[in-house]
Amino acid sequence: MQQYEVIIIGAGASGIMCALNTSQKTLLIEASERVGKKILATGNGKCNITNNHLDVKFYNTPLVAKYFAKFNQKQTLQYFADLGIFTHFDDEGRRYPLSNSANTVLDILLKALSLKRNVTTMVNTVPLKITKTQNGFSVATQNQTFTCRKLVIATGGNSGMQYLQQLHVAYVDFKPSLVGLKTTRNKGLAGVRVSNVRVKFDRLFDEVGEILFKEDGISGIVIFNLSAHLARNHLRTGKVVIDLLANIESDVLLQMLQASVANNPNYLLLDVVEGLLHKSLAKNLLEKLALDKKVAKDSTAQELRSLVNLIKNYVVEITGYADNHQVHAGGVDLCNLDENLQHQHVPNLYLIGEVVNVDGVCGGYNLQWAWTSGKIVGEKF
Ligand SMILES: Cc1cc2nc3c(=O)[nH]c(=O)nc-3n(C[C@H](O)[C@H](O)[C@H](O)COP(=O)(O)OP(=O)(O)OC[C@H]3O[C@@H](n4cnc5c(N)ncnc54)[C@H](O)[C@@H]3O)c2cc1C
Repeated sequence: MQQYEVIIIGAGASGIMCALNTSQKTLLIEASERVGKKILATGNGKCNITNNHLDVKFYNTPLVAKYFAKFNQKQTLQYFADLGIFTHFDDEGRRYPLSNSANTVLDILLKALSLKRNVTTMVNTVPLKITKTQNGFSVATQNQTFTCRKLVIATGGNSGMQYLQQLHVAYVDFKPSLVGLKTTRNKGLAGVRVSNVRVKFDRLFDEVGEILFKEDGISGIVIFNLSAHLARNHLRTGKVVIDLLANIESDVLLQMLQASVANNPNYLLLDVVEGLLHKSLAKNLLEKLALDKKVAKDSTAQELRSLVNLIKNYVVEITGYADNHQVHAGGVDLCNLDENLQHQHVPNLYLIGEVVNVDGVCGGYNLQWAWTSGKIVGEKF
């Protein structure tokens, strides 16, 4: 039986950060064949490390504030710069490595990890049974059993569930978040991208951004952010109301349509609307109103008002989540953890990253939580 002071299960963003900051004898266990693989997929391969505008409003719980007070985005950027990873940011404050390559982030983290004499890393290893012992924990894999005084669960969302159950730790069920949404059929709209749309869902969500229509779904950052709010509120279905021309007021839009009809009376109404919106969208809207064959001069004032109303209140029926979510909502509530992320009822058990019930919207906020939580726990050891 091999003994360690600290065992970290899961070598993703939070587990690596934790291991990098320990100084005691540590075992880092990773199920897959490679450490930190998911980091390579983040930010479309560019790794959106964090965001200049870190704020609790971008998370599901304000309790994250006390952890960011210990290690925020500025300290994260300094930490990365000290490791040799320099960053730049876009208009939304999203921070990326200067190389614009997630490989850089992973390569340098792994280099730093390889220089840590106190950390042993084991890949292709999955703990099957974790037991609380008098002095800590025993962690049994298929072939070996390890013991440790302090155990850190850093498995990401769902996969940590089995260990939480074995240790009788309560958690909120994991759900997909930051994911596209399935919808009823969006006839003829597959591949249509519309920017500056306002997306509303009851009183729960109201945000402007870009959406991408799919045959039976919608996607894009604003939709990912909506999915986070749906997940937090245990919702899978409902009506999304989209203002397709969010930066034009209804009365102005009506005047524009009326002017275009007056100037081009022999156009089809479809041609008129195409001057405002993607052709496929124009066709879809006019078909819904049975105006797709209408000549502009024959359209009535009421028909143009209905068209404006539809453009400003385009309803899409959500039927569920699409596949390939980026984040899990759910996990162990922060109110059950102390200021060092130690479980209040299971001494020496620490939880970091997505296994904690912390989820943020798009923009670098989820990785920031992984860095913050990993750093806080790691430097305790
Ligand atoms: C495609 C994609 C793009 C993303 N882009 C961004 C972005 O740009 N910015 C951002 O802030 N967030 C992004 N995210 C979210 C971000 O990657 C996660 O929030 C973050 O990686 C969570 O860190 P973690 O350490 O909790 O879990 P993970 O990074 O998921 O790491 C968990 C690790 O534990 C291992 N593991 C799981 N189960 C076991 C087990 N039983 N035994 C041993 N090991 C196990 C896994 O193999 C994995 O290596 C993205 C996510 C995805 C999927």
